[in-house]
Amino acid sequence: MTTSSVNWPVAALRDAELRDRTYMRVGGRVRWLLEPATPQELQLAIVTARERGFVPRILGGGCNLVIEDGLHDCLVITTDRMKRCFRPLRGSSRFDEQTQQGELVHIDPAEDPRLVVWAGTTLQKLCSTATDLGLSGLECLAGVPGQLGGGIAMNAGGRYGEMWDCVELVRVIEPDGRMLDLPRAECTPRYRNGGLGERVVAGAILKLVPRTRALVRERAKQYLKEKNDAQPLTEWSAGCVFKNPDKQRSGGLSAGQLVERCGLKGRERGDAYVSPQHGNFVINRRNASSADVLGLIEELRAEVASQTGVQLELEVKVWCREPG
Ligand SMILES: Cc1cc2nc3c(=O)[nH]c(=O)nc-3n(C[C@H](O)[C@H](O)[C@H](O)COP(=O)(O)OP(=O)(O)OC[C@H]3O[C@@H](n4cnc5c(N)ncnc54)[C@H](O)[C@@H]3O)c2cc1C
Repeated sequence: MTTSSVNWPVAALRDAELRDRTYMRVGGRVRWLLEPATPQELQLAIVTARERGFVPRILGGGCNLVIEDGLHDCLVITTDRMKRCFRPLRGSSRFDEQTQQGELVHIDPAEDPRLVVWAGTTLQKLCSTATDLGLSGLECLAGVPGQLGGGIAMNAGGRYGEMWDCVELVRVIEPDGRMLDLPRAECTPRYRNGGLGERVVAGAILKLVPRTRALVRERAKQYLKEKNDAQPLTEWSAGCVFKNPDKQRSGGLSAGQLVERCGLKGRERGDAYVSPQHGNFVINRRNASSADVLGLIEELRAEVASQTGVQLELEVKVWCREPG
């Protein structure tokens, strides 16, 4: 791999491998990978990419993503280096005022239970920071891998709540390069969709609820245990493949239950297989190709449709070599 930051205003890699940047460990290379370290660098990366004719794709933790093998002749921006999470300055309600000093000012979390978080902060780091501060609201994300930006873009969550439940403001970059602060009231997140369209998440201010540390920790531990019992968290997957269908159409069954009902648990294609633990997880045993994974997903969708009449919709995002 050739490293070159000469031609880009932020750190950049040429012909970068994407496989190991995904949880599923599937995917090829990309012509350019830009690695901004701050929201301002992210903005600069987007503007420069677009000036040069690229429509950038944004990579967070790669935990809800299946990337096709081969060379993607396009440009990806990763938020991996944008890992900051801190408390806002006293009395501040604006993202801008987060400076280095913000981390040093000791405000009682009960007085101002907010966190300023940059896009690349991992959801697990976020959960543990909130727990340490005795701030509740993120326990629903215990065990969910990925980053803040991806969590907001996907509205990650589960039965106990969703990412957007605690968003006070999200800082986004518009396709034309403008940086905007969107208050929660101006956003319309839905089930597994932050509703931000083409906007890129640079960070957010989260508003949490002061509780005792012990209570937050206990709750997170319980949710994590339930998740661990139900899902193959340590295997290489992209999380739930399909969104849960409308319960009226599916007779109250989730996507995983439909796959199970159709006898598809354990179904294999190459080195990819459907988890025997949870029907909505496709696992890479070690050397699955994107064709194995995507072929198996199509097989599941077709089989569920033919046996039950329910058309499953993808939750995972798929990056094909040809953009669009
Ligand atoms: C074992 C396992 C368990 C999981 N459990 C859950 C669960 O319980 N609930 C749940 O909701 N999800 C779950 N997921 C899926 C995944 O963890 C979440 O969707 C997570 O929010 C994805 O974040 P990410 O940073 O990895 O995003 P990526 O996978 O990197 O990206 C996902 C999408 O978001 C876009 N995106 C990423 N960052 C940004 C940004 N800064 N701005 C704009 N768009 C962006 C990408 O372009 C892509 O379209 C699970 C996944 C795994 C592997």
